[in-house]
Amino acid sequence: MAVYHADALVIRSREFGESDRVLTLFSREMGKLQAVAKGVRKPKSRQRAGVQLFTYGDFLIHKGKSLDTVSQCSPKESFGFLWNDLDRSFAATGIAELLDISTEKGQPNPELFALTLTCLFLLEQFDPFLVLCAYALRLMTLMGYRPLLGECAECGAKVNGDRLFFSSDAGGTLCGNCRENYGGRWIRAGSIAFMRQLIQADITKIDRLRWSAWMQQEILETLRLFLEYKFERPLKAWRMGSLNRDDLG
Ligand SMILES: [Zn+2]
Repeated sequence: MAVYHADALVIRSREFGESDRVLTLFSREMGKLQAVAKGVRKPKSRQRAGVQLFTYGDFLIHKGKSLDTVSQCSPKESFGFLWNDLDRSFAATGIAELLDISTEKGQPNPELFALTLTCLFLLEQFDPFLVLCAYALRLMTLMGYRPLLGECAECGAKVNGDRLFFSSDAGGTLCGNCRENYGGRWIRAGSIAFMRQLIQADITKIDRLRWSAWMQQEILETLRLFLEYKFERPLKAWRMGSLNRDDLG
């Protein structure tokens, strides 16, 4: 039976059968893949730790006829800090969910792998929603969907004003002439400028950027709508994240 190694992150883990889990892994070399971890829900399983969501490790996998099986996992990082903080775990879940819905199995993307890993590490110190928004914008950029921010997505003209019209459909901001053919929403020019910075700044220094509560809310909402439009799937964790903040006022 063929065996292979995967340097990978657990981005989804769901119960399967009586004591197993099906893991969705995102690996450096092979992109997204799925494998069953057998018996890991038994209390005495030694592999329990290695199959937790967000675990980063070296997985030894047996190739099966229909499903591959994890035969060993050596965790390198488990991101334990995520579990003690609601906002951090929301952001990490948002990252994993977005990575899952935006990728197909068996398509390697080492840059996206590195970005994901970096962002999970940054969640320990940085504002988690800042990391989530920077991640989303950079993922879109890597996939060739970078939104146009400050120029018209249709005709390329510069767009000005305190509020700019952003259309998920068009893939960015729109000028007055091109606006009427598209649906979209008005957002403040400051939020557009901030999103540009989130793409351009050194990712390990984004904590130097300052945003206000309204900007955070506006950017999260705009990005969520844009991502859901592009990938045609709901982002459940993102929606829960914004509910949580609304509750806090
Ligand atoms: Zn235009």
